[in-house]
Amino acid sequence: MPLLKSWVESANRADGDFPLNNLPCGVFSAGDDGDRRCGVAIGDHVLDVSGLEAEGLLDLDGGPYLDVAFWNDFMDAGPAAWASLRAQLTALLRQGSTKQYLVEDHLVPLAEVTLHLPFIVAEFTDFYAGRNHALNVGTMFRGPENALPPNWLHIPIGYNGRASSVVVSGTPVRRPWGQVKGADHATPAFQPSRRFDFELELGCVLGQASTHGRPVTVAEAEAMIFGYVLLNDWSARDIQAWEYQPLGPFQAKATATTISPWIVMKAALADFRIPTPPREVPLLPYLAEPGPGNLNLALSVGLTPQGGAETVISRTNSDQLYYSFAQQICHHTTSGCAMSVGDLIGSGTISGPDKGARGSLLELGWGGREPIPVDGGTRTFLEDGDTLTLYGHADGAGYRIGFGRCAGQVIPALADPWSRP
Ligand code: MN
Repeated sequence: MPLLKSWVESANRADGDFPLNNLPCGVFSAGDDGDRRCGVAIGDHVLDVSGLEAEGLLDLDGGPYLDVAFWNDFMDAGPAAWASLRAQLTALLRQGSTKQYLVEDHLVPLAEVTLHLPFIVAEFTDFYAGRNHALNVGTMFRGPENALPPNWLHIPIGYNGRASSVVVSGTPVRRPWGQVKGADHATPAFQPSRRFDFELELGCVLGQASTHGRPVTVAEAEAMIFGYVLLNDWSARDIQAWEYQPLGPFQAKATATTISPWIVMKAALADFRIPTPPREVPLLPYLAEPGPGNLNLALSVGLTPQGGAETVISRTNSDQLYYSFAQQICHHTTSGCAMSVGDLIGSGTISGPDKGARGSLLELGWGGREPIPVDGGTRTFLEDGDTLTLYGHADGAGYRIGFGRCAGQVIPALADPWSRP
């Protein structure tokens, strides 16, 4: 699809994240009242769609859905409502729209708003669907001969995370305390993490529920997907190394999970779908991929030391995921586990095959052994004051579909987690 030209001039720039083709969903507040409203990004503005709906400029069957400070009610309305909203917004914002003079009043400059979590996160599950990451981490933790777990090529493996850990881009992330044990120590210690890390992931937002006790097919899972966010699964590697066997990560990944403020709807990325990579061993039939389930998204990571300049430390692509989100969700329901509207699915770290394409510092710095250059020094893991930013976009012809920034600054650990004021 070519660029859809908008009368919002800033939406027609080739290097902007938010052309008319995108229309990502967020929640914003402006001014002093703190009132949170649903908004859609267009160029360098937010369109107040809560206001549009209240004024009757949007007509959504069964609505109102946008008179709340989250997108869950609208997601629950289903795919027909999702398509209707995009069609109506496209008509209102297109060059030549007869309603420009009515819509203009509902535009707010992005520079003047505060962005909030765009949806109520029902539950959060984090998968491990990137083959290069699984191989790299497995090599470091268990050695090259046992790098890929025996189940990995047969099952999209994951763990049930905590919805309460999910925060929106811009939220500071406090370095956690935790129990660690070095190989040369006889007993564990409780201390601030010394190996605090990020993970570059894509998040998938479910807009439809499934029934408890009934698995969904891969195709049914695909139809339940509302959209995607960038996701940073902050990880304390020293805590993880001590706690992770046999039940997987627990406190190491419960400190925070940062997501981008904009949900890019599935329909906006329809032109950028690609198949998952070739199977190395055949999958059981229930996991077969009926259509191209992966996305072609350029992803990158910036690290900015406090007071310093940003260095891009990784560039990769979401085509590196071995399992699609639909395959992950299908597998998630095989037990009869129900999916809910507002569920967030993390893809697992997306690392490319090359060193500069690794999606975590654990891999980039190879477990602390190979420091990487950043402005004013080097890093093996994150230092206090570092800001970590994820970027992602699909490349169209003369435009791109972006997510905005997914950023968080690491702030120092509490001096004493047990002290009370
Ligand atoms: Mn992860």
